Order: sequence, then C-alpha cells, then structure tokens
Amino acid sequence: MTILRLAIPSPLRRLFDYLPPDGTEADDLQPGMRFKVTFGRRETIGLLVEITSSSEIPANKLKPARELLDATPVLPPTIMELARWAAGYYHHPEGDALHQALPVALRHGDPCDYRHSWFWHADKEASLECLPGNAHRQRSLLEVLLAHPQGISQEALKAEGFDPAPLKNLLNKGLAHREQHNPYALSAQPEILRQPALPLNQEQQSALTGITAHAGFQTNLLDGVTGSGKTEVYLQAIAHCLHQGKQALVLVPEIGLTPQTIARFKARFNVPIAALHSGLTDRQRLDGWLAAKDGHARIIIGTRSAIFTPMAAPGMLIIDEEHDTSFKQQEGFRYSARDLAVYRGRLENIPVILGSATPALESLHNALEGRYHWLKLTERAGHSLPPAFELLDIRQQPLTDGLSEPLIARIRHHLHQGTQVLVFLNRRGYAPSLMCHDCGWIADCSRCDAHLTLHRQPPRLHCHHCDTQQPVPHHCPQCQSTEIMPMGAGTERTEQTLQSLFPNTPVLRVDRDSTQRKNAMHQITEQVATGKPCILLGTQMLAKGHHFPRVTLVAIINADGGLFSADFRGMERTAQLILQVAGRAGRADHPGQVVMQTHHADHPMLQSLVSQGYDAFATLELQHRHLANLPPYHHYAILRAEATQRGRADAFLSALRQQFTSHLQTSHACQWLGPFPSPMEKRGGLFRAQLMLHAADRKPLHQLLQQLCSFLEQHPEARKVRWSIDVDPADTF
Ligand code: ADP
Ligand code: ZN
Ligand code: ZN
Repeated sequence: MTILRLAIPSPLRRLFDYLPPDGTEADDLQPGMRFKVTFGRRETIGLLVEITSSSEIPANKLKPARELLDATPVLPPTIMELARWAAGYYHHPEGDALHQALPVALRHGDPCDYRHSWFWHADKEASLECLPGNAHRQRSLLEVLLAHPQGISQEALKAEGFDPAPLKNLLNKGLAHREQHNPYALSAQPEILRQPALPLNQEQQSALTGITAHAGFQTNLLDGVTGSGKTEVYLQAIAHCLHQGKQALVLVPEIGLTPQTIARFKARFNVPIAALHSGLTDRQRLDGWLAAKDGHARIIIGTRSAIFTPMAAPGMLIIDEEHDTSFKQQEGFRYSARDLAVYRGRLENIPVILGSATPALESLHNALEGRYHWLKLTERAGHSLPPAFELLDIRQQPLTDGLSEPLIARIRHHLHQGTQVLVFLNRRGYAPSLMCHDCGWIADCSRCDAHLTLHRQPPRLHCHHCDTQQPVPHHCPQCQSTEIMPMGAGTERTEQTLQSLFPNTPVLRVDRDSTQRKNAMHQITEQVATGKPCILLGTQMLAKGHHFPRVTLVAIINADGGLFSADFRGMERTAQLILQVAGRAGRADHPGQVVMQTHHADHPMLQSLVSQGYDAFATLELQHRHLANLPPYHHYAILRAEATQRGRADAFLSALRQQFTSHLQTSHACQWLGPFPSPMEKRGGLFRAQLMLHAADRKPLHQLLQQLCSFLEQHPEARKVRWSIDVDPADTF
C-alpha cells in the first residue's frame, strides 16, 4: 500500500496521510512534489515529504489526494531538509515551514515553469497521417503546430483552448517536441568578468585567500570596518566560485537590496543575476527562483526568504550585514536566515561568508570560540581615512528643535567647504507626540500602549505600532482647549528646521514616508550623486549600503536612544546603528567627521565605542552578557501569548508554568523567567504576556520546548489565546 505523507500549511504540528490520486504510479513519486488535496473543507496544496506503507489512520478513512501537480520535485532534498530542520529547531509546524520555503506562486499551485517558457514545435517528419482519424484533439493540435514552423508558446496554445494532455501525447509519440525559452539564458559568455577586479590590499587579499583556499563547508566571519572593501572581497570570492561553474547566493538586509546594490553586481559580472526583491510580482519571483534552481542564474541576490532558494550548483552563501535584525523573521515562522545559512552551508558542503562592520555578538562569540574563521579588515580600502568621532555633550545647551548650536555650526562649516552633510534621526513623522498645554492630555493610540505620532505630510495622527490613523484634533478632547502642541521632533519637523536654518541648501528627507512614491529614492540618490552641497536627513534607511562619496559630516541628533532600553540587545543595536551611520562619512578622498549629540557623554558604552571602536565595545558587552547569563552564553526562547482581555494571557502563562512544572518532569537545566506582561502590554488591541526560558545548553531547552508544544496543543485553554514560540529571539518585546 502506498501512503503519501504530506506537508500541509496548518497550525498542527504534524504531517498528513493521503492515498495517491487514481492512476498515479508509486514509481512516479518523489519527495518534493506537490499535490492538490482536500483538507477539511478547503482545497489546498500538500508537499510530499515521505512515501510510506503504513498509517495511524485506518485505511478506509484515508482520502486520495486530488491531483499530482508536478512531474519532478519542486524542492530538492537539501532544501526540504533545511526547512524541516528549521521547523524542528524553531518549533514551528512543519507543513507551514515547508510551504514558506516555496515561492508564493508555487504555494498557490501554479505550474513550476517559466512564464511562456515552453515553445512547441511539430517534428520534422510529423504529418496528420501519423495520427488515427479519431484522435481529434491531437490532430487539430498538430495542425496548429505545423502552421507555426517557428514554434508556438504553451501559453498561446492554452489560449487557443488546448490543455496539456494532447501535447503530452504528441510528445510521447515523437510527433512534437518542446524547447525552453528561459528569460535568464544568455548566449555563452566567454568572459565572466565585465569589469576588472580591483587590486586588493593586503588584508583583503588574505581574507580572500582565507575564504577560497578552503573548499567545502566553513563559516567565515568577514569583520571589516565600514568602507574596508568587504563588498570587493565578496565580488572576488564570487568570481572564484563562478570560475568553478558554481552559483553564489547573496543575502542582504531588507532595506539593503537597493538598485545601487544590484547595479554593483551587474557592473562586475557578465552572468545572469536573479534579484529576488519585494518589487517583483509572484510570477517574476518564480522565474528568478527557477533560474536559480535550474542553474541559469549564476548569482542570486535576495532578502531573508531567499535562503530557501534552491541552486543547481551551489558554491557559496554570503550574508551581508549579518548583524541586521531583518534576517530574523519576527512573526509566524520565526527563523533566522543567517543561522539557517550556516546550517545550509554544512548541508551543501560549501563556504559561508558572514560579513559586517559590526558583527552580532553571537557571531563574534563563535569567532572567538574558533567555530567561525575570523577574517578582519581593520582599515578602509583605497585612500579614505576612518572618520573622527566627537561626542557633543548637550546637557543644559539651548536646543532648536533638538539641534544644538555647536552642531549647527559644524553643519554650516561642512556646507561652506562645499561638501555634503548627513543628519540622522531615527524617528519619522513631525513629532512623536501631541500634548494639550492646558491640561496635559496626550494623544494615545486606543489599541496600543503608545502615543500617536503627529504627521503633517499629510496631516494625521499615526500609530507606528498598529498603523491606526486618525485626523488631528483642533481641540483637546479633555478640556476643549485649542492649545495643543507637538512635543519633540521627528524627521518632518527637523527637515523644516534645517531648511529654515539653511535656506539656500537643499534638504533631502529620507524615511518611509518620503520614499513611498516610486522612484523617490532614486531621485534623491541622483541629486546626492551630483556632489553639490546638500543636507541628507533621514532614519536608518540611510544607514545601510549607501555610498555617498561627498558626505563629510554625519550628525547624529540623539545617540542616547537605546542606552537605557529594557531589551538586553538595546546597547548592541545602538552601537551597530551608530557605527553604520557613521560609516557613511568620508568614504572617498574627503576625511569624515561624526558628531553625536548626547546627554550621557560619559557613558562607558559611548566612550568605548568612539575612542576604541566596535571590538572594544563588544568585548565589554560580552562580559556583561556572560555575567548575566544572557546570549550568546545562554540560549533563550520566549513563549508569547496574546488575548483580547487584559490579564488573560498572563493568567494563562502562569497556569501553564504551574501545571507544567508540577505535572511533568522538567529538567533543572532550564530556567523560567516570568510570566510578565510584555514591555508594551497592549498592542493592536491585544494584551500580551511572555514567559522566557533559558539554558546554558541548547539540548535541554529544546527538549523542554518540545514538551511545551505538545502540551499546548492539547491544552483546552490554549485555544482561547494566541501563543507562539520564538527561539533565539531578536528582541524581548
Ligand atoms: P564595505 O563593503 O566594506 O563597506 P566597499 O566594498 O563598499 O566597502 O568599499 C568601499 C570603497 O572602497 C568602494 O568605493 C570601493 O570601490 C573601494 N575599494 C574597495 N576595495 C578597494 C581596493 N582594493 N582598492 C581601491 N579601492 C577599493
Ligand atoms: Zn486639554
Ligand atoms: Zn496602535
């Protein structure tokens, strides 16, 4: 008996058994093929994981799958294994994990083919006489093919009303053949490089040798200051990989996959490159994915989910800005693409490069422990010098909408010398809150424990946590006063202030609002590229990947943001953000300066960061983490719960902890923290609480999580709340 064990997207942590559809031979089946199935009352797609001969379900209760969709597996075994391993590690339902490994079009059951890809031709010898007179459909199809000596696309045939069955018959009889038209196929290019590689400096050369000398799996941490030429090292490592006939997969942070980044790869290489970015339709994304799977695309660049892209000839995995939190999915299937890259490198036995100027403390720890091959680039490439840092103590200083006099003077000085200035403020909108001067009322979000942000373009109050928007009131709803005023400054307000201080200089604002219009970012980068003096003002959108050679001053309006964060990673994130923004200064021949306004100029973190750099800061921070049993020394997982009533999620987790610890043998190797309400308890109308678990070893932690999952799945109370498990959480909110 043949039983199909299928992965079906569902919250249930198991696979589902079906019988093969009528007429399907067991020999035709391989894991990684898709079936259309009826699941409960809906129709969905199941991915074949295993073929077995026995089931826990009685044979007469098993239903047949409706239809086999693929002739060959859509996912190769390595990707199946990667997704299944991730489902286990992140305690996520396997069916959903496997589905997320597929491009959206394939999750919906679309054919696993390029659009317009198959071109059909009648065979040279073929004529209508070759077919019996009653094979009407085949005969009329052959007639059409004979009328198109240049071939005709499958889409066009479909439009003429032909379905695949007669095509397949003609194919089997040798009367027709098909050819693939691949949008990624290029005529053979003798030369892989379009542009010569730069001669490397000594550090870059030894990093490159370190990467390429070792065939097979090895994780390399390319730890290089901003502007040290990490990208040049990637490019040359990729060239090495291409010369061996292999493909390279490059992952970049969500906001790093800019046309600038793609252009840099295209300028260097003469090979087809698949860029899997968010601007693509599902169909275009599938084409890129297929080109990677077939081996036509030689370089694949994408964001987080591209880690599941199959490659015909995998050669190398590169994670640029590996510390970036966008590599960790923050909802649903909470995987880390960076950590999966390391697992995938091992599976496919290929090198992995994790690159950053500010490596995650986890990665540094792995390098310190010798698990990662540590490659350092300590100097900027070419002629540019590292920027000079200055902490500007603004205690008791008069501020104009957050800008101190000395900061304004520095900006003026740089503009006078004819260069450009970047002003960093990680807060969009006009003002972070709106307050009544007469009674102290503050505009709050009704669905979140948060203030509403005032925006002026267009005017609205906007919650940045749940996206609720409402009109700006003219009167205070509490005391009817009209004295309501914006408190604090966001990018819109700072733009206005800078523009009035420097009326003759263009101020270019870059944030999520100002770049929504298509091409807006492009226009801004074009204007910056002219090299004329200007002020670039923006949020962390400016911090990554951009190369602004004429920027000589980076002004950080508020360096204190994360210093006192409730999250244990607050300090690390602040340091990374500061250095990434600072890295935009002086990337060419003009020396750069970084000025940071702070109320805590003597804070040891800021001090070590500006006087000794990231490594010194990281060493200090790692010591703190060690003493406090925090990652990377202890491994963490968070069990979160949300409910519509206040207190319910909290009570649920308390009861769970109690029942769990009293009824089940739990290991003392794991520590429980909480439950406590989440730092922002109410969000999007739900009340949230969390329970943290941590352990010095992963194994007992994972055993405990496994038990917790099974327990929760059976727990009747668990259906009244929404719960989720987050392994290696990126933040504790
Ligand atoms: P990173 O990725 O580390 O921030 P990039 O690779 O973008 O650094 O390099 C910064 C600048 O230095 C770029 O303009 C790049 O062209 C230049 N550069 C990199 N390597 C070299 C080299 N070996 N010689 C001269 N210029 C280089
Ligand atoms: Zn009031
Ligand atoms: Zn809200």
